[in-house]
Amino acid sequence: MTSFINQDRPPVFCPGCTHERITKGLDKAFSNMGLEADKIAIVTDIGCSGLFDTFFNVHALHGVHGRALTYAAGLKLADPSLNVIVTMGDGGLGIGGAHVLSACRKNLDLTLIVLNNFNFGMTGGQYSATTPNDAVVGSEFLNRAEIPIDICSVAKSAGATYISKCSGHDPKLPEELVKAMQHKGFSLVETLGLCTGRYTKRNQLTVKSIDQMIEKNPVPGGVVEENQRPEYGELYRELAKKESRFPEPLVIESQFDLPDPGRQEIVILGSAGMRIVTAGDIVCHAGISAGMNASIKNDYNITVLRGQSVSEILLTPEEIGYTGIESPTVVLALSDEGVARRKKIFQTLAPSTFVLKEKSVTIPETPARVEEIDFKALKIKKQDWALASLGLIAARNIAVTKDMLTLALKSRFNDKVFGLAMETVEKMF
Ligand code: SF4
Repeated sequence: MTSFINQDRPPVFCPGCTHERITKGLDKAFSNMGLEADKIAIVTDIGCSGLFDTFFNVHALHGVHGRALTYAAGLKLADPSLNVIVTMGDGGLGIGGAHVLSACRKNLDLTLIVLNNFNFGMTGGQYSATTPNDAVVGSEFLNRAEIPIDICSVAKSAGATYISKCSGHDPKLPEELVKAMQHKGFSLVETLGLCTGRYTKRNQLTVKSIDQMIEKNPVPGGVVEENQRPEYGELYRELAKKESRFPEPLVIESQFDLPDPGRQEIVILGSAGMRIVTAGDIVCHAGISAGMNASIKNDYNITVLRGQSVSEILLTPEEIGYTGIESPTVVLALSDEGVARRKKIFQTLAPSTFVLKEKSVTIPETPARVEEIDFKALKIKKQDWALASLGLIAARNIAVTKDMLTLALKSRFNDKVFGLAMETVEKMF
């Protein structure tokens, strides 16, 4: 029999812990299925069951409470040929249970093994989402104040297409795991087991009493007929293929010469509602039309029509690795809020830096050359100040030209908006 157990780091659990049996059972299941190691990925959650990924010589990923399922989903969607198995304890399931519900609802072809031992073993035996009311645990009376969940019932009602429940000591465990892994869709196997390090020290739970629990509350294991539906990954790919709304990427041909072919760093300092980000985007288009590489970094609040809005644009003939602004060549100061956000840069500007300041805006002392403009007197609305500023630097042949700006506006806007934008730009010439 092929074994995938990592002999350099074999499983180590407390003596008598059911996790050890499940580790061996899972290894046997892999072997019985004739799987290759590079076609298996074990994704683990938090807790003692979160150690499984280190015990096998297969692909492995360790996640946090419940979210192991989300990483597993990404793996399976990216490579449908992988057999993806998630191990999770009742602790992780309680904390990150929304991800379990989501996995049940989606029906992506994953297998979740929930190693239910009725407590948080790793952290001292505190109560979990499955601890019975009458259990004695390390978190005093708290398990008496709420009811435990029935994992399989929850999974079934959330749409799981395959569920099963068995003792972690059941000799048929490898077969149960094989059946779950062979199911096309999401399968959940709940194993009941002993946490000898914590739980069974305080509570009468034995292999026999686990069998009795299962007999008393049997789960008709296997395929859940009423939940059967297409596997999520296949359905996702089919729907995505039919989707035709994705636009073709915009190609901007290099066709202009820049006034200055060197690196340009343009900083636009404004407020929400002044179309600062749009202006930054237009500068990028313009720069690319002159053969430059472009990057943009925007800084604004989550609020609407309130708060600063700052756009930092880098145009350079070099490949861009770091997108930060180091030495601005142009600063457009259009609101006090925007200036306050970057007030430190003014002292460090070079004398050659061009600063355009709207008359109503106050800027700190700076060695840069400053030009003031009164947009209000020119009857330009505040939301057009950023665009008008671009018109003004184009009129001065700084960083962009009128041709570059015109092309950028044409490719960015529909005919009507383009016409209005050009009216604003023309006022600056
Ligand atoms: S603390 Fe409990 S679950 Fe963890 S290894 Fe020990 S017996 Fe197993």
